[in-house]
Amino acid sequence: MDARRWKRVVVTGGAGFVGSHLCERLIGDGAEVSCVDNLVTGSRENTAALEQHRNFTFVEGDVSHSGTLAAIPGPVDLVLHLACPASPADYLRLPLQTLEVGSSGTRNALELARRDGARFLLASTSEVYGDPLEHPQSEGYWGNVNPIGPRSVYDESKRYAEALVSAYRRTHGTDTAIVRIFNTYGPRMRAGDGRAVPTFIRQALTGDPLTVAGDGSQTRSLTYVDDTVDGLLALAVSGSPGPLNIGSGDETTMLDLARQILDLTGSASTIEFVDRPADDPAKRRPDTEAARTQLGWEPRVECAEGLKRTVEWFARTGAL
Ligand code: NAD
Repeated sequence: MDARRWKRVVVTGGAGFVGSHLCERLIGDGAEVSCVDNLVTGSRENTAALEQHRNFTFVEGDVSHSGTLAAIPGPVDLVLHLACPASPADYLRLPLQTLEVGSSGTRNALELARRDGARFLLASTSEVYGDPLEHPQSEGYWGNVNPIGPRSVYDESKRYAEALVSAYRRTHGTDTAIVRIFNTYGPRMRAGDGRAVPTFIRQALTGDPLTVAGDGSQTRSLTYVDDTVDGLLALAVSGSPGPLNIGSGDETTMLDLARQILDLTGSASTIEFVDRPADDPAKRRPDTEAARTQLGWEPRVECAEGLKRTVEWFARTGAL
């Protein structure tokens, strides 16, 4: 997707996994990018290659503090709000910060967009559907979330963020969009972040047993990061308010994923079954009809190819 129409873009959470790929794409398309990140789960290594570029600025700061984004010079014409711990291990370790960035952080990002009349995009999540009672999940489904369970710090923070974005649109006419991202994987995930793909790859490459939760029959639909970035930018350019699901329809059980990674790495690791976390969704697959018809977006990278690229990245960088 061509992002050349944007001159000045703010990416919150730009030093994270998805955010750093997004910054890279925007810089490649000629935009000026301010990446605002407090490095709570992200890393300067993710943006190291961009930091020499004259159009890239790194601002270290917490977007939940009101001054951080207000200090960004204007005019900005696009705000992409990705800041938020995203892996279960991270948000369970940072519950209050996660709620804070979904509430105050989102409000501060919306205020920046409102100040400059910028387009605003919230990176929401398939987790707003909770443990879904509808399958696949379309944008019209309101979800099945336990509001007091451990995962609620993430799910409810994103649901609140969606409500806030919708209220800004209604109340102030802010040009907003909501994207519900489904499980995305690729280079620059942290091997220790607890998500299935990097965990299995680390275990396979180091010869440890692959720890599959429960009986491994729970499913996820995995999307390669380049496709997710395409989807986010397509939605930004489209002018649509969303919410739109961005994710692959390629549903895989966790046991199959573990086996695919064993095949790809040629590892002799065994598979070990461990307890499933509380409120872990049994099924996850997006209905992406709306993204297809409204944006002309569909994922292009097959799971086998995306996993191969990801394994190669981990093997090459040794980021295990
Ligand atoms: P990540 O943890 O790699 O990136 C999040 C970034 O936000 C990190 O760099 C972190 O340091 C930064 N951050 C967190 N709180 C902050 C704060 N208060 N102020 C400034 N920076 C802060 O996660 P990711 O996988 O890249 O996810 C990016 C976004 O996409 C998140 O909003 C996440 O909820 C959403 N998302 C991701 C996925 C996925 O599968 N990766 C799925 C659904 C939604």
